[in-house]
Parts: sequence; structure tokens; C-alpha cells
Amino acid sequence: MSNALAAPATIAFIGLGQMGLPMARRLIAAGFSVRGADPAEAARAALVEAGGSAFSAAKQAVAGADAVITMLPTGRIVREALLGPGGAAAALSEGTPVIDMSSSAPTDTVSLAAELSPMGLVLLDAPVSGGVKRAIDGSLAIMVGGPAEAVERVRPVLEAMGKSIFATGPIGSGHAMKALNNYVSAAGLIAACEALLVGGRFGLAPDTIVDVLNASTGRNNSTEVKMKPFIISEAYNSGFSLALMAKDLHIAADLAEHLELPLPQIQAVATLWEEAKAELPAQADHTEIHRHLKALADGGKTG
Ligand code: NAD
Repeated sequence: MSNALAAPATIAFIGLGQMGLPMARRLIAAGFSVRGADPAEAARAALVEAGGSAFSAAKQAVAGADAVITMLPTGRIVREALLGPGGAAAALSEGTPVIDMSSSAPTDTVSLAAELSPMGLVLLDAPVSGGVKRAIDGSLAIMVGGPAEAVERVRPVLEAMGKSIFATGPIGSGHAMKALNNYVSAAGLIAACEALLVGGRFGLAPDTIVDVLNASTGRNNSTEVKMKPFIISEAYNSGFSLALMAKDLHIAADLAEHLELPLPQIQAVATLWEEAKAELPAQADHTEIHRHLKALADGGKTG
């Protein structure tokens, strides 16, 4: 299909990890042709199994694509995949929308858009919220920044992966919104874990604490969907890593600093997650912040 203002039909999907793979599967199920890229062989095999084609390099995947989606750990890696040595951007035809669905830093996104623009490429930032579960069932919240016309053109693509699509404004606004969402989410998770530790020490049963919070004003996303399955059970397997959450909080705190807003809690939450990242194993799940807080409560190291 030509790129001339038609909705994209062939999507290059760069980054087939915890989120990217189920999102790419939703696109295939909705009838899009998906060409994936990931250095991990298992991820490529899973996409082929789902009906897509898969390549180890982004540059190969973008051949003939009407739109490109990146779902990579950081904005730095997104830039490298597009504009680094052997990057994919040079292989794209003019007018191709590039949609960064990773949780990247908004200021980097504004710079990347300016670098892609002279190549005739339109960048949109469309990060997601909802985690692996909602990536699988296609009900993600998607916050998209960029020119309104380009947003409308890719809306059918986004609707195959998400239930709520929010046009947030100019380029970078989706990434700013995503970092702020994760700040609020991380602060709520810490508060819930602290309530569990203090209440538990006082003799309250963990399930009772969560049940009461969920019927009361202390209810939040963590009390509703994280405390019982991932924390009280000690399964710690939500599918969102602690390192990625720490990155998001760093972005949120940096944004506040960039805007010269000396707000205390946003910095404190970012610092706490950085400390937890230093103490816990590299692959730790973000729900393991509970283990870090428990170690602090017990006066010891996370171990
Ligand atoms: P992940 O680490 O599971 O997946 C990243 C994938 O990118 C890996 O498969 C990796 O091999 C691949 N990759 C790395 N460099 C690449 C390159 N140059 N070309 C192609 N592939 C490459 O991470 P994830 O949990 O899927 O998160 C992806 C993004 O989504 C992050 O920005 C994260 O912050 C965000 N996010 C994650 C969740 C979640 O619940 N996991 C929720 C919302 C947003």
C-alpha cells in the first residue's frame, strides 16, 4: 500500500519483548501484516508462530512498511535503532509515520522528531499503560502526542492494541504523560507496600489490609491488581521490570527539574526506586520494591 494518507497496512514492529510481542500479536489478529525485529531468537520465533515475519535487524523489518512502531527499553535505544549505524530510518520512504510506543524521555523525543523531520519522517510518541495483561487482551491505555493529522492516520493501528486512545497534544506530550502516570502509580505502590508492612507488624492479616483498602478511600491500582497476585503471594512476576520503572521515575523527576519545579515527593520516589534497583538483581520485577521496603523495615539489606 502507498503511504499517501491511507491507513497503514504493513507495520514494522521493532522490539518484541514482554509488551511488544503481545501488541504485535494484536495487530496480526486485527488483519495487519507485521514485520517484527528483535535480536532475541525466541521472540522472533514467537512472532512467526503468530503469523508475522521476523528479522534480527530493524533495517530489514522496515522494508515495505507503511508505518513503524518501536517498543524498546529506552528512548536512547529507539534513537540508535532508527538513526545509529545501520539504522532503519534511512530505509523508510518519505511520509512514513514512526510511532514510539516505548516509555521514552519527552525532551529526547522532541529532539528525535527534529532529526527525523528533514528525512520526511513524522514521529509520534504513543506510550502505553496497562501492563502485559492488557497488552495481551488489547485494552491498553495509549497516550499519543504529535500532529493531529498523523494521529488520525494511525488511529486504526492504535485501536488494535488499546481501548482508550488519548491525543495528548504536541510531540513529547504522550511521553511526558506516561512518565507522570508511572510516578503516580509507583508512589501508590510504595504507599500500599508500606501499609502492608506497618499493618503486618501491628498484627493485621495481609489479605484483610488489602480488602479494607479496596473497599475504602486508600484503594489504588496496586491495591486492586498487584498486592494479592504479585506481592502477598511473593510471586513478584507482573512482567514489568523494576529497572524500567526506575527509568520512568527518573524521566518524571528530570521533567520536574527541567521545568524548575522543586517538588519533594517526585524526587524522593525516583531516588527510592534507584536505591532499590542498586540493591536488587538486574532482572527484578517492579513489584519487588516490596522486598526492598521490607528490608529497610527490618533494618537490613535486600539480599
Ligand atoms: P522488554 O525488555 O521485555 O523488551 C524489550 C525488547 O526490545 C527485548 O525483546 C529486546 O531484545 C528488544 N530490543 C532491544 N534492542 C533492540 C533493537 N535495537 N532492535 C530490536 N529489538 C531490540 O521490555 P518491555 O517490558 O516490553 O518494555 C518495553 C517498553 O515499554 C519500555 O520502554 C517500558 O518502559 C514500556 N512499558 C512496559 C510495560 C510492562 O508492563 N512491561 C508497561 C508499559 C510500558
